[in-house]
Amino acid sequence: MALVAGVIRRLDEAVVNRIAAGEVIQRPANAIKEMIENCLDAKSTSIQVVVKEGGLKLIQVQDNGCGIRKEDLHIVCERFTTSKLQKFEDLASISTYGFRGEALASISHVAHVTVTTKTADAKCAYRASYSDGKIKAPPKPCAGNQGTQIMVEDLFYNVNTRRKALKNPSEEYAKILEVVGRYAIHNSGISFSVKKQGDTVSDVRTLANATTVDNIRSIFGNAVSRELIEVGCEDVNLAFKMKGYITNANYSVKKCIFLLFINHRLVESTALRKAIETVYAAYLPKSTHPFLYLSLEIAPKNVDVNVHPTKHEVHFLHEDSILERVQQHIESKLLGSNSSRMYFTQTLLPGAECSSSEVVKSAASSSTATKGTSDKVYAHQMVRTDSREQKLDAFLQPVNNPLSTGPTEETTGVNVRALEGTSGGQQDRPVRPQDAEMEDVSELLETADLIEMADVQQDAVMPGGLSKSGHLSPEKALPRKRPREDTDIQMEEDTRKEMTAACTPKRRIINLTSVLTLQEEISSQAHESLQEMLRDHSFVGCVSPQWALVQHRTKLYLLNTTKLSQELFYQILIYDFANFGVLRLSEPAPLYELAMLALEDPESGWTEEDGPKEGLAEYIVEFLKKKTEMLKDYFSLEIDEEGNLTGLPLLIDNYIPLLEGLPMFVLRLATEVNWDEEKECFESLSKELSMFYSIRKQYIIDETNPTSSQNEDSDSGSPPWKWTVEHVVYKAFRTHLLPPKHFTDDGNILQLANLPDLYKVFERC
Ligand code: ADP
Ligand code: MG
Repeated sequence: MALVAGVIRRLDEAVVNRIAAGEVIQRPANAIKEMIENCLDAKSTSIQVVVKEGGLKLIQVQDNGCGIRKEDLHIVCERFTTSKLQKFEDLASISTYGFRGEALASISHVAHVTVTTKTADAKCAYRASYSDGKIKAPPKPCAGNQGTQIMVEDLFYNVNTRRKALKNPSEEYAKILEVVGRYAIHNSGISFSVKKQGDTVSDVRTLANATTVDNIRSIFGNAVSRELIEVGCEDVNLAFKMKGYITNANYSVKKCIFLLFINHRLVESTALRKAIETVYAAYLPKSTHPFLYLSLEIAPKNVDVNVHPTKHEVHFLHEDSILERVQQHIESKLLGSNSSRMYFTQTLLPGAECSSSEVVKSAASSSTATKGTSDKVYAHQMVRTDSREQKLDAFLQPVNNPLSTGPTEETTGVNVRALEGTSGGQQDRPVRPQDAEMEDVSELLETADLIEMADVQQDAVMPGGLSKSGHLSPEKALPRKRPREDTDIQMEEDTRKEMTAACTPKRRIINLTSVLTLQEEISSQAHESLQEMLRDHSFVGCVSPQWALVQHRTKLYLLNTTKLSQELFYQILIYDFANFGVLRLSEPAPLYELAMLALEDPESGWTEEDGPKEGLAEYIVEFLKKKTEMLKDYFSLEIDEEGNLTGLPLLIDNYIPLLEGLPMFVLRLATEVNWDEEKECFESLSKELSMFYSIRKQYIIDETNPTSSQNEDSDSGSPPWKWTVEHVVYKAFRTHLLPPKHFTDDGNILQLANLPDLYKVFERC
């Protein structure tokens, strides 16, 4: 058979363009990244993305940036049209994302594009549609706010093979959430949202006034955000700067989460990732990895900016030296947060903004991390305390939880006898290797015959119809869900292997706007230096159930345990919403009797005019019985059909609220909670619960009760409530409490003394 040469034909231009476009835009997430970069170039402060079918049916990106001039609308989608670059020399100093004018053109070759845009000085907005790079008809005037909305419909409608390759919309949607979430973290100060068309709840949502850490928290969860160390270094010779946040040695995940921006572009660098992972290898358990968010700025002339849009892997000049500098810096930070003995120096004035990384100098790392004489730590600034050191009595837990016995039975007839399930509240917190507590709990669970393992309610499926504004749908929160599953539940399994298999709870993802808003309210109120103080404090002692002393660096503080613990429980209720374990009461407590007890108490403010107590109590029981489904599902507050309270939420391990507070809690539950509005309901209910759970004056009863044998339970000789305050409650303050700003001036946190000031006093004597 003779070989016949194929005829070479010039391809149709439209086909050429389509092939080229397919290389630039490979999936919906690429298109969205390009569009977000355009919004950022246009100086937008709000970027909202709506998608349908993982972006394959529709991508709509709305911004409030500078808009596009009407005169430019006819060419925006043509190739090589850009408002950002005029001459080749400009490339070296380019500061915008875009400069090739390729993105919109490419998209318009593989999708239907409609642009609606208004500049500040235009009287109205204009809309135009595009196909294959060309405008279809002259722009039409229309109504619209300043900014640009770009709608991309039926992506790859004309590229069969590509469409077939992308047949899983939820996978595409996950990719979109990942890209937008990362840009949102890198661009704090700009609000981002992503949602599916028709949904009311966004799956990524950041606020314009949120900090980078807030954004990391909202996208990757508390487990990550609570363990972050701020990093930052600069080298003039190598012409690079780096800043970001990385997790400390307490946190690890199965797969490394690395958000890398170089000159504000989301990129990948395998070399950098490997270099950093080598440093972490010395700190993290085998085959686990950190979370890293790094933003590198490298002199533009040293990076090849002209990379292909889909080639995310970057290389730059002096790569090895820069990697080494980054490694050194990260090593020093990890060492600083992990060495067992440290000398702290106070270099800040009270109230001054401080980033922990700047003021804490570790002796162990000072040789490598600090140079120059200005860093010298003087003797009078040195403090020999290390909050990370465990006291021996932390291991000597009283056998019975002191707060569950004694006076409780007499007053309410309720006796909590068993911890049931595991605390959902603990799930998003990494277990620190030095914490003995976990083992203590499992030992207790093994030996105490009172304790039965029971159903784990975290696995419960949502009963429908409870929420007005949203619903729990696991796929809606992919970026939150993934990191948490990878890390925390894994940790949970590891540390609690002894427990039955039924005890591997799954965390429910909460997407209720009301709850997310409450979370944001907490985080926006957080005071950074107070948080640092709580995190690194050394516990000195209890003054009373209500007050305790702690030391932080050279200062001594008096803290209102009642108020702080109340805030702690409130925050746990909001952050771990619908994810609590259950403290089951060994004997169901009749709500009727609890309500009667409360009404007998003068504190209830009951007067004759309110009508007979019996009637009120009956009303309360009937009222609360109507709410059982919600109370159980969201708050692990269990009420049986007869109107008995059977379970309370387990908020932190080893903690049972003082049950004398139960009658008043039940009364207030029915009378003080706003049951009409979703957000207010969750808020006021959590406030009531947290008041009930807080450490209060009554604990003194334990101490004075002569029949109480609990004092012997604790080898340290101090009453058990003190043990609980120090080793359960204050320990939880370290990691679980975001102290609100008002604690600085409402007397709940008081600075009593500062060591350097005391020296001055002594010198004068
Ligand atoms: P490039 O970003 O490389 O310039 P693009 O194809 O991404 O190329 O965009 C082409 C041009 O369209 C931009 O230069 C810009 O003038 C305009 N443009 C695109 N998106 C927006 C937007 N969201 N806001 C304002 N102008 C935009
Ligand atoms: Mg662009």
